[in-house]
Amino acid sequence: MAQHTGPRIAAVIGSPVAHSLSPVIHQAAFDSAGVDWVYTAFDIARGSAEEAISAMRLLGLAGLSVTMPHKSDVARLVDRLEPAARALDAVNTVSWDGDELVGSSTDGAGFVASLAEAGVDVTDARVAVIGAGGAARSVIDALGRAGAADITVLNRTQDRAEQAATLSPAASVGIVSDVTRADIVVNATSVGMGVEPGGATSVDMACDPGLLRAGQIVADLVYHPLETAWMRAAVDIGATTIDGLGMLVHQAALQQERWLGHRPDTAPMRAAAVTELAARRNAPR
Ligand code: NAP
Repeated sequence: MAQHTGPRIAAVIGSPVAHSLSPVIHQAAFDSAGVDWVYTAFDIARGSAEEAISAMRLLGLAGLSVTMPHKSDVARLVDRLEPAARALDAVNTVSWDGDELVGSSTDGAGFVASLAEAGVDVTDARVAVIGAGGAARSVIDALGRAGAADITVLNRTQDRAEQAATLSPAASVGIVSDVTRADIVVNATSVGMGVEPGGATSVDMACDPGLLRAGQIVADLVYHPLETAWMRAAVDIGATTIDGLGMLVHQAALQQERWLGHRPDTAPMRAAAVTELAARRNAPR
């Protein structure tokens, strides 16, 4: 390992990473806690994860966040996987345990933590998850581990729903009426992303809002915009909504817990992300 003086270095690897909020969120936590770390972003081309992990070992990088397209490749490059990362065959966090590199997946646990922050306990809950991509899979896995009673998976492409439902014994492929029956409904698709509620039509909604009901918890993993048209419709119906920034911030806090040994205060992390999103929204195009 290279000799290095100065602050410890953590980074996100992915491609593209230019628009990642991770540097803003992580640096806000380090700075507010007086932790002498810097966090940066490396655009690493598809297929080059092995070199990136070698560089982490050589340079002694203190921690890595991993995003598309490297999550599965990194799962094969670390020395050991935590259970969620093994189940998902995907790593979003690399940390050190002595001389070993450990791969974790904190997205799903971050989602459960964002619900807990809002006072929502998933234990014994009936949950409908719309979507079956990477985000949905991490959420299904974490809901199962956290003791959800029933997880129904609805997705445009049926065979992906079937694959995702194998992640937990509590999960099965759902039907539309499961959305109404559920205590918690999650949009884990990209539907609604980048569409301001004022300009949205029915194709920008994760499901027909008529399927939602008062008293439900409605969580959207989309965080740009922070309030999607689907969430706004859910509020009108009398549901309680949870935005996607909670998951993003809490998965980052769980990464720092692995790097630093303690979980940071998420308030400055969220505040920094909100400020950055607002700045991007107001930036001239
Ligand atoms: P992904 O792996 O590409 O999966 C995309 C999902 O969206 C699939 O289920 C896909 O269905 C569905 N979908 C896309 N367009 C659709 C349409 N027009 N109608 C119906 N379904 C559609 O993406 P991902 O990584 O899971 O990300 C999904 C969303 O979650 C993104 O908006 C992402 O920004 C967000 N996300 C948020 C966080 C957070 O921390 N808040 C973390 C990760 C991701 P098919 O299978 O039928 O294609």
